[in-house]
Amino acid sequence: MSETTRHPRSLPPMEVQGYGQDTVAVQGGEPRSYPHDALTAPIVQTATYSFRDTAELVHYMEGRAEREEYGRYGNPSVKLVERKLAALEGTEDAAAFSCGMAAITTTILALVKSGSHVVLFNDCYRRTRQFVTQFLSRFGVEYTLIPPGDLQALRDAIRPETRLVISEVPTNPYQNIVDLEKLAEICQAHKVKTLIDSTFATPINMQPAAHGMDLIVHSATKYLAGHNDVLGGLVAGNRGIVSMIRELRDVLGGVCDPHSAYLIQRGMKTLGLRVQRQNDTGLRLARRLEAHPRIKQVWYPGLESHPQYAAAARLMTGFGGVVTVELHGTLEQAGAFIDACKLPRIAPSLGGVESLIEQPALMSYFELSPEQRKAVGISDTLVRIAVGVEDPEDVIQDILQALDAG
Ligand SMILES: *Cc1c(COP(=O)(O)O)cnc(C)c1O
Repeated sequence: MSETTRHPRSLPPMEVQGYGQDTVAVQGGEPRSYPHDALTAPIVQTATYSFRDTAELVHYMEGRAEREEYGRYGNPSVKLVERKLAALEGTEDAAAFSCGMAAITTTILALVKSGSHVVLFNDCYRRTRQFVTQFLSRFGVEYTLIPPGDLQALRDAIRPETRLVISEVPTNPYQNIVDLEKLAEICQAHKVKTLIDSTFATPINMQPAAHGMDLIVHSATKYLAGHNDVLGGLVAGNRGIVSMIRELRDVLGGVCDPHSAYLIQRGMKTLGLRVQRQNDTGLRLARRLEAHPRIKQVWYPGLESHPQYAAAARLMTGFGGVVTVELHGTLEQAGAFIDACKLPRIAPSLGGVESLIEQPALMSYFELSPEQRKAVGISDTLVRIAVGVEDPEDVIQDILQALDAG
């Protein structure tokens, strides 16, 4: 057997139980040795895998050997990312995708059929909502949208055909926190699966599986990869359900490529360090903004003033790097504040090393009229700040000077 196939298999991934999350981020999913005794994982940049002879092929086809066959069905670099996320989330398995939306759409498609019913909290990621309400509905999948965190509305919405409840925790941009333990209780009683988009939380700040959630999805593009240089998505859960999702991924084709997988697992090794910094800057910034006269309201789950602070404090060990604020004044005045910032760059996305800032009315909700925006709760002066890993005081001082100048 060649070195490439022998090494990772002869030494199984490190057993990470009992270690802290920073240790798991570095060592989780890693075999104790790689080909050529390389310390770090090689990028197995190949589209397909060859068989030495027909006998080896037949041996494999009869299910008597575990190996790779073709790139869409598996790749060692991709499997490393999957093992690392499963170790961090405390789940049996995980599957990687080309981006967060590929992970979300493939997961939902694997669980529903015509006649199924899905419940979504109505502040979940805009494209997830679009997929369910505008796309799946064409194929006879029904849905109910319920207000953020409204568990009575959830109880009322569940029907015999309900297969799945979908929520983001925390949500974007208002960072609502649904009480996962109560959610689990309701869903388990009705045998409904729960799907949590945990992109904003990361497995450093929260582990939804430990609170009874079935499936955890991430846009790895954000905190997991963490450097604003690659797209990726992951879903974590128990072995049976993840293999079902993986089988559909191999049909639909939204696979993660080996080089992206390499960048994501490389980023994940410093996840703990980065997220701790972002938690720290986020909380300090939120407190300073709450006291600023130009700020009407701050939404940050680590502030005592946040409507679900109690649930956040119980479920999360840190509150992340996204701080949402509403300014006094007009759309133009909020824009002038953003333009006066020197450190945060104007861009969608979050969770990377660079601080980013955006005005949802001019970005995700640009095509809506001011009235329509108001109806979905997006005010003209709403600003989302996603802090990076720069010096906390540099970021905070820059934002404060922009508020005084802009
Ligand atoms: C960015 C994002 C997504 C989509 O992920 P992509 O990698 O851009 O496809 C899904 N959910 C949340 C919460 C996100 O922030």
